[in-house]
Amino acid sequence: LLVAEDLHKAFGPTPALVGAGLSIGAGEIVAIMGPSGSGKSTLLHCLAGILRPDRGTVRYQDVDLGSLSDGKRSELRRTEFGFVFQFGQLVPELTCLENVALPLRLAGLKRRDAESRAVEGLARLEVADVAGKRPGETSGGQGQRVAVARALVTSPKVIFADEPTGALDSLNGERVMTLFLGAVRASGTAVVLVTHEPRVAAYADREVVVRDGRSREVERAG
Ligand code: ATP
Ligand code: MG
Repeated sequence: LLVAEDLHKAFGPTPALVGAGLSIGAGEIVAIMGPSGSGKSTLLHCLAGILRPDRGTVRYQDVDLGSLSDGKRSELRRTEFGFVFQFGQLVPELTCLENVALPLRLAGLKRRDAESRAVEGLARLEVADVAGKRPGETSGGQGQRVAVARALVTSPKVIFADEPTGALDSLNGERVMTLFLGAVRASGTAVVLVTHEPRVAAYADREVVVRDGRSREVERAG
């Protein structure tokens, strides 16, 4: 589904990626682990077409992201990809329901249709009760579940998640992760999941470690 090879990316004099790669099949869940500053987020952003690598290729369904115009790349992101980050991704002025409905509204759905699908999405993540609240009025765990509902609502092919439970305590993190992965398993969505926590990585089908800008697949026993 998504194949990245030989990615290089530097920020000024700082090399962030020096020959990293990763491939992910449809419906697969891949965890990216590694020390702070090793290049995990940079790799995720290159895979998602948010950052352009200095060298190397990212192909999504055999389309080279580097060959697309900025407009085409952002369209691809909007229609095929979903995103969950650690903090601050919900629009604070909108209710949780409006936040989840937003990507559908942007895709051209009528308000009523968008909101009824948003209600279903919130229910699937067991946060239907916060629909009318603004993100600032929810708990951290509820907010992350709303963010996951928003990432899933467009039925993306791939969800990119960067430390989605990083700001939560382990009990809440586990709860969000269970609901998140249950929902993606049910819909066949692939997930690229950056995490520091081995317990979170254990939910993935495969594990890749990034170190000093290079990636390598981890062999798992069993
Ligand atoms: P963490 O676990 O702390 O989130 P990470 O593995 O995600 O770390 P990256 O954010 O990918 O690490 O950063 C890799 C390297 O690139 C680091 O040395 C970082 O300082 C640098 N870097 C990342 N983004 C930028 C930027 N926008 N400008 C300058 N340097 C950057
Ligand atoms: Mg990071």
